[in-house]
Amino acid sequence: MKKRNLVVANWKMHPETLEEAKKIFNSSRLAAKTLKNTDVVICPPFPFLQPLSKLEHPKNLYFGAQNICSEPEGAFTGEVSAVIIKNLEAKYAIIGYSERRAIGETNQIVARKLQTAYDGGLIPILCVGEKSRDRDGSHLEFLRNQIKECINSLQRKHLVGMIIAYEPVWAIGKSYKEALGATDVHEMTLFIKKSAGEIVGMDLAESFKILYGGSVETANDDDIMEKGNVLGFLVGHASLDTKAFPSILKVADTKK
Ligand code: PEP
Repeated sequence: MKKRNLVVANWKMHPETLEEAKKIFNSSRLAAKTLKNTDVVICPPFPFLQPLSKLEHPKNLYFGAQNICSEPEGAFTGEVSAVIIKNLEAKYAIIGYSERRAIGETNQIVARKLQTAYDGGLIPILCVGEKSRDRDGSHLEFLRNQIKECINSLQRKHLVGMIIAYEPVWAIGKSYKEALGATDVHEMTLFIKKSAGEIVGMDLAESFKILYGGSVETANDDDIMEKGNVLGFLVGHASLDTKAFPSILKVADTKK
């Protein structure tokens, strides 16, 4: 079956009020309605999940959490479990985002969160990406190891169609000028599938849905979608822009 394109909006810790959140959501909702080949996942801050999910939205628009607790339940002050998220009508969870890794989330914790997400009925979006690049290619080894340690304990049934967002950390939160170019994105998607294939077998790795994230804007979305060999994007700052994000969604939808 043809994989549907996918664009995930990571709102991070924005905006400050529900009113603003509704405005941003409205523009995404209207754009999502016009799409034929693309699913959209909006990941707002936790408190906005439920009020936004109650608003009218098309069937190809889903909600996701930006993070979940690694444990399924219990006394974990300040944490939110996969089941709580699921019960708020959300379907997805971003796992292993670089900003969480930067505050101590190891590959082992990410692996645990992936399992907890599956057990709680959520679809995880696994984020991987190197912090920097060097000429000797050690960033490739870093990425291969990240993939291995995050997925090697997962059951085969969970690995089918797994979503991996490749986000080179050095390209996040900048401008399109500093994002990875489309040809390099293409190379990295092949590398990710090959690395995953070494662990879980190429049949499963070929089913993976690879997204690119890292300063996707209206100036580079077309090129990456066209030549990057990706199914879509994980979009940060541009997902809060009521003009840019609808335009990115439409561009993503052009790839069949
Ligand atoms: C992101 O939030 O996943 C991201 C890649 O951020 P930005 O698009 O701002 O680089």
